[in-house]
Amino acid sequence: MGRSSKDKRDIYYRLAKEEGWRARSAFKLLQLDQEFSLFHGVSRAVDLCAAPGSWSQVLSRKLRVKKEHEEVKIVAVDLQAMAPLPGVTQIQGDITKVSTAQEIIRHFEGRPADLVVCDGAPDVTGLHDVDEYIQAQLLLAALNITTHVLKPGGAFVAKIFRGKDVTLLYSQLKIFFSSVTCAKPRSSRNSSIEAFVVCQSYSPPEGYVPNMSNPLLDHCYDVDFNQLEGPNRVVVPFLACGDLSAFDSDRSYPLQLDASKQYQYTPPTQPPIRPPYQQACQLRKTNQLAREDAPAL
Ligand code: SAM
Repeated sequence: MGRSSKDKRDIYYRLAKEEGWRARSAFKLLQLDQEFSLFHGVSRAVDLCAAPGSWSQVLSRKLRVKKEHEEVKIVAVDLQAMAPLPGVTQIQGDITKVSTAQEIIRHFEGRPADLVVCDGAPDVTGLHDVDEYIQAQLLLAALNITTHVLKPGGAFVAKIFRGKDVTLLYSQLKIFFSSVTCAKPRSSRNSSIEAFVVCQSYSPPEGYVPNMSNPLLDHCYDVDFNQLEGPNRVVVPFLACGDLSAFDSDRSYPLQLDASKQYQYTPPTQPPIRPPYQQACQLRKTNQLAREDAPAL
């Protein structure tokens, strides 16, 4: 029997089929849990960018085994519709939209989540810088939602592209979590730039009030950022350099700055138009360029 294209699929693809997972990505979350015990004590979880739903399947199978079903709450969100899963509430929406964030918050009815996961990925354009940028925006939108629903001490796991500016993302995450680790599960292809940030012990800065003023969210134009206070407001220092002895760029000064000296014109070091072929142009104008008796150039 000849090889079909299916045989060439990797081991995790085949295992996913055998074990009934909707996608091979299920193994990434399972392996992250093996390493970090993510599901320990978890009964309320959010799965952002969940379709086709293998991470929600993992959450549903793992959390509902450990706890009474009524205690477990799983909310899954994606742009795409998903086939139903036991114990999973589904929201079809864009996680960068404030309306979606508000709907997720509503489902938790004031009781926070223990875990937020996000496997979100944009449609890859092939332009690495653009893909990395969009991925980072998705992660920040997920982080913003997380600050509204996660309990102190809770965990956030998200896909990240390890591009050249990834350090900025790590420092943004470190503001909210005591521990941030970048993990690459075995099931994530070595050729892929993807990895997962495992952020543990949610501890926002003192006085931080979750707000929808994230400029990534769609309504940011309605927000008066100047009204935000404390750690919610970003203020960077403004420094006027130099002292009054330096020239003021908005004032007019006499041509001769030193009054004791006579003004002397200084020609520009490089006149704007003096091409090396200027003489040839001149000769051509007087019809002397191709003549034998033309003066030598
Ligand atoms: N974890 C999923 C699973 O195991 O089945 C796979 C997720 S798939 C790699 C990435 C998902 O991100 C896609 O289903 C896509 O629709 C979703 N996505 C991308 N941008 C999104 C956005 N702005 N809001 C919601 N979902 C988004």
